[in-house]
Amino acid sequence: MLLHTIKEVREQIKEWKKQGLTVGLVPTMGALHNGHKSLIEKSVEKCDKTVVSVFVNPIQFCPGEDLDKYPRTLDADNKLCDEIGADIVFAPNPKEMYGEGHILSNDFLTYVIPPYFYTDKLCGKSRVGHFDGVCTVVNKLFNIVQPDFAFFGKKDMQQLIILKKMVQDLNIPVEIIPCPIVREESGLALSSRNKYLTEQGKINALALSKLLFNIKACYNKGVVDTKYLGETAYSFLNDNHSLEYLEFRDKDTLEEKTIADDNTVVFIAARVENVRLIDNIELR
Ligand code: AMP
Repeated sequence: MLLHTIKEVREQIKEWKKQGLTVGLVPTMGALHNGHKSLIEKSVEKCDKTVVSVFVNPIQFCPGEDLDKYPRTLDADNKLCDEIGADIVFAPNPKEMYGEGHILSNDFLTYVIPPYFYTDKLCGKSRVGHFDGVCTVVNKLFNIVQPDFAFFGKKDMQQLIILKKMVQDLNIPVEIIPCPIVREESGLALSSRNKYLTEQGKINALALSKLLFNIKACYNKGVVDTKYLGETAYSFLNDNHSLEYLEFRDKDTLEEKTIADDNTVVFIAARVENVRLIDNIELR
């Protein structure tokens, strides 16, 4: 069932809650691929009812980012959700989410701002305000859908960590379910932004997953000095890659690690054909 308004979603949710049914929420920006599919499948399996939101959230894009050209494929997304067994696809427009004038600056809109310690690093460093936009929209979706469970991919590990922190700090009655990264057979992490890459770009992009797998293999052989582990990455990178960061951080607190352990995540962001790609690997 494709719904565009908050009112319609609220009415349906009220009905389900009356019947004592559990509700799962899968927030997405659409252009759904097998990564999203795995989250939706998990929700359908775990919950009585599943809501998939499809909303390209303007307030999480920074000036100069790809808001206008971000792929929008609502018909196909709706069909896929239907096939998987989702009950509602909630696809509001920005006006529905942010009001008449939809004035999006934080002078005019109440924002949920995650702690600076979590946002001044990794993607937050170059995407200033991005996680404020994410936390604000996810909070709104939680209030609209009132899910028992919400499903997020480890592909966006910093986002997942920040949202867990938000739920804990604000006592939001929802359980966050982290879902594994879905990759192509080649190792490339699925992403809606992979659509911007040429065939050669996709081949060049494999360096990211390859160097992460290699770091994990070295760690498994007993190498724990993150400076050394980080240096192994450079043999995978060349002029086709513009590295933004490669960092070793704690899975819960995002603190930097000099000595890798089982709680360490290796985070990478790099541009290939000027497309910004992110990936990560848990060393455990
Ligand atoms: P997005 O549409 O990019 O906002 O992503 C919506 C949700 O799908 C987020 O929780 C992402 O982490 C998750 N997701 C995106 N790509 C993948 C992937 N390759 N594997 C697992 N989850 C993913």
